[in-house]
Amino acid sequence: MSDSAPRSTRQASPDRLAMLGGARAVPRTRRIPAWPRVTDSDREAVLRSLSSGRFTTAAVGEQEIESLEREWAERVGTRHCVMVSNGTAALSVALGALGIEPGDEVIVPALSFIASAVAPLHILAVPVFVDIDPRTYNLVPHLVEAAITPRTRAIVVVHLHGLPVDMDEIRAIADKHGLAVVEDAAQAHGAVYRGRTVGSLGAVNTFSLNVSKNLATCGEGGLITTDDDGIARRAAMLRQFGEVATKKAERSYVGHLLGFNHKPNAIQAAFTRSQLERFDEEAKLRDENVRRFLDRLAALPGLVTPVVPDDRSHAWHILRFRTDPEAWGLEPGHAGPLRAALMRALRSEGVPASHYQMMSLPQQRVFRDRLGYGGLPWRLPGVAPREYRAEDQPTTLAVINDSFTLQKAHLSPEAGPLLSVYADAFEKVWRHRDVLARHAVSMEYKAPWETADEIAAAEWEEITE
Ligand SMILES: *Cc1c(COP(=O)(O)O)cnc(C)c1O
Repeated sequence: MSDSAPRSTRQASPDRLAMLGGARAVPRTRRIPAWPRVTDSDREAVLRSLSSGRFTTAAVGEQEIESLEREWAERVGTRHCVMVSNGTAALSVALGALGIEPGDEVIVPALSFIASAVAPLHILAVPVFVDIDPRTYNLVPHLVEAAITPRTRAIVVVHLHGLPVDMDEIRAIADKHGLAVVEDAAQAHGAVYRGRTVGSLGAVNTFSLNVSKNLATCGEGGLITTDDDGIARRAAMLRQFGEVATKKAERSYVGHLLGFNHKPNAIQAAFTRSQLERFDEEAKLRDENVRRFLDRLAALPGLVTPVVPDDRSHAWHILRFRTDPEAWGLEPGHAGPLRAALMRALRSEGVPASHYQMMSLPQQRVFRDRLGYGGLPWRLPGVAPREYRAEDQPTTLAVINDSFTLQKAHLSPEAGPLLSVYADAFEKVWRHRDVLARHAVSMEYKAPWETADEIAAAEWEEITE
């Protein structure tokens, strides 16, 4: 329906956009099914752990953490697994266990959660950002190679949103230059690349069990996987004050190296073990629901749905959609406004379209202004001067500008009917393409990072008042 239709017919149409006062495609009563699901078995597992009286890795006879470590190593296909307090800690412990030292450079994608780049910084390594592929949103191998310097020690790959990175290409480059590959698989539990499960493909790899992730605990947790005995031993030491954490009745309390206290909690291990029992079944149902949803959306012109190359699977942690202004008869410069118009229309219909990252990692103040530890690691002797410029990763900026995401709502295996209503809402919005295109070209527009900068400035003013 066009804007020039007489007012009376506009009001009469049941198809009117909610943004313009029509009825929502997704009724307010429609609830997002809870994730993680909490069942009676989960409750029993938590109670069992509470009754054990053994709550951390330091407790002699503790069972839940050790069992989860064994079960996850088996599920992923590695010799070892070390559980820690969260996914960020997992990454700094993994890098530390690998032997990354202050001033070493670590390659990280420019589009990820901030933890991927903060974890190297926590051990005084210098993050070096590399741009992403416009379709997979993952690191581009030849750009990784171009970023290597004599100080590079490791490549942190992030299987963003659940899609495995081109691991063989990345590993070939790493081998050629003598670098370690570290998988940040916080978003990709269970995803498979050329027959192997993520978390078994790098020298040492990490997962988050944060309540928002595909394998969750009832709070915070993280897992480190590796085949290397030495890395596993050092990771276990780093999580507990640098101690040799054998479970002898008498703890020595000797710190052999600079460790953290990143010990996990047995209750959370027990909860995740219980979730793990139905992980594969729930992942399969999620895959079916999401594929059915994406099949419907793929028919909408100018909407770029997620790709899954034939040699890998997608864990569907987050669904990202780009917009293609050309298919809407718009100029490339209208990509951002078109994305903003679509987000506005979808949200009004009741679809929780959201940003995932409003700025690239190098745009975050901690890097852009090289805050770090009072200017370290950048001021360490021998560290090359480094400017973090967002324009150095143009695809990351384009993707942040012209895409939106769906998060969380699709994670429950019971989300199928809701996704079907979301697809109705997308189709409804697409029937009003002409209205949205006009809205896009006439709106006042700010890029997401400009909005984020304004938010940051206001927050800063508030706390420094
Ligand atoms: C969630 C996440 C992390 C951090 O995990 P936490 O458990 O929240 O500390 C790291 N990397 C990526 C890509 C993530 O999505």
